Amino acid sequence: MNITAQSVWNNCLNFIKDNIQPQAYKTWFEPIIAVKLSDNALSIQVPSKFFYEWLEEHYVKILKVSLTKELGETAKLVYIIKMENTYGNKQPFTERIPSSNRSSVKAQDVDVPLKHKDRELRNPFVIPGIRNVKIDSQLNPNYNFDNFLEGDSNRLARSAGLAVSAKPGGTSFNPLLIFGGVGLGKTHLAHAIGVDIKDKYPEKTVLYISAEKFTQQYIDSVKKNNRNDFIHFYQLIDVLVIDDVQFLSGKSGTQDVFFHIFNHLHQNGKQVILTSDKAPVDMQDIEQRLLSRFKWGLSAELQTPDFETRVSILKNKLYRDGVEMPDDIIEYVAKHIKSNIRELEGAIISLIAQSSFNKKEINIELAKQVVEKFVKNTKREVSIDYIQKVVSDYFQMDVDTLQSKTRKRHIVQARQLAMFFAKKLTKASLASIGSQIGKRDHATVLHACKTVDNLSSTDKQFRKYVEDLTKKLSV
Ligand code: ADP
Ligand code: MG
Repeated sequence: MNITAQSVWNNCLNFIKDNIQPQAYKTWFEPIIAVKLSDNALSIQVPSKFFYEWLEEHYVKILKVSLTKELGETAKLVYIIKMENTYGNKQPFTERIPSSNRSSVKAQDVDVPLKHKDRELRNPFVIPGIRNVKIDSQLNPNYNFDNFLEGDSNRLARSAGLAVSAKPGGTSFNPLLIFGGVGLGKTHLAHAIGVDIKDKYPEKTVLYISAEKFTQQYIDSVKKNNRNDFIHFYQLIDVLVIDDVQFLSGKSGTQDVFFHIFNHLHQNGKQVILTSDKAPVDMQDIEQRLLSRFKWGLSAELQTPDFETRVSILKNKLYRDGVEMPDDIIEYVAKHIKSNIRELEGAIISLIAQSSFNKKEINIELAKQVVEKFVKNTKREVSIDYIQKVVSDYFQMDVDTLQSKTRKRHIVQARQLAMFFAKKLTKASLASIGSQIGKRDHATVLHACKTVDNLSSTDKQFRKYVEDLTKKLSV
């Protein structure tokens, strides 16, 4: 019988395929190429060292069994690591490593002295915390859809999230970009989507990572000279969740590598989920080509929750913690803490803690004290309404005039100053500022900010306006 590397490997594959998860087979075995068969040693080519290590760690047994079935007890396996030369100008290289199944590896099969090789292999590409038995998804099961309460402020983002988790990679929401201010539930929702996918599709490889950690890993990989492995690792993920992508601003190396990973995943129908504290139009120092990718899918905003939603979030939390609290206290807290759900929860927790430490009854008085502390500690953000009021007062006009469509120069300037300060002093997006100041679009606001910047460096009188208003608006 004419046995070739290919025929031996095909038989092995058939055996392996029947014994492992389809997704694992696809990920780890389909990319392998059988290269040659000599002296009962089968050489297979794998795409990276990381790949080789993964096989050795997780599939060495099944490899051995299948190979022994084909070639008998003296069978040997030799890995050839072929790095693709897709990045930088590093030469592609090929490296031969024998299977760790050393008893069946003869010394002459080894191209590099074993000792040296050993050392190198003990120092694998490790992404701290990620590379466990399987790729650990890093998801927090406590952040799920069940406890992500729905309200007007999050309905779009939440249902987009549900659509994505029902069909990861299979909707037009790819990438799904969730954006919104601090403490409004971006991280919670991002985890919820991942957790739900893991639940519905256990074979999918899901990975949650903060943009900050991603950046750190990338920098490390450059230092350790295994950037290709880094990229390869991320290209294996089915559902990639990257939290707080605004962190990538100004980091062009990381943006570049993310761009390539993103393209690869997207082309292969993999799902990408991103969160950011800004809308794409407001992101600064993010490369245009990356921004345009962010806009391919859906950008869904998490807005500040209305009073009803705040109350139900609090009630739900108390219920799950098994704590009872009178409605008027809950409503008092919900009424006074508006712009950040994390603080809302923080106030309730501190209220519970205060009452149990001091054996005090939870009453409105105590609630007042706690809320006051929270409101004081978090520097109050001025509202856009307040800014418009202050600016119109300063120029002795009313707010309607400031918002009107007129092109009279002094009114236009007042309006531009209001937009400028709204951008400077609030976290609102350009689009949201525009819609609140006379229903303008984000480009108008951007233009206003630039004009104010220019005028205040060229026009003395105008600079005085800016200075006076800065004083009036400082809190
Ligand atoms: P962000 O990432 O936007 O800063 P987080 O996701 O960390 O915000 O949310 C802050 C806190 O608010 C978390 O404890 C989260 O569970 C809670 N939270 C946010 N949105 C909701 C919601 N819709 N229902 C219940 N809890 C929420
Ligand atoms: Mg977050």
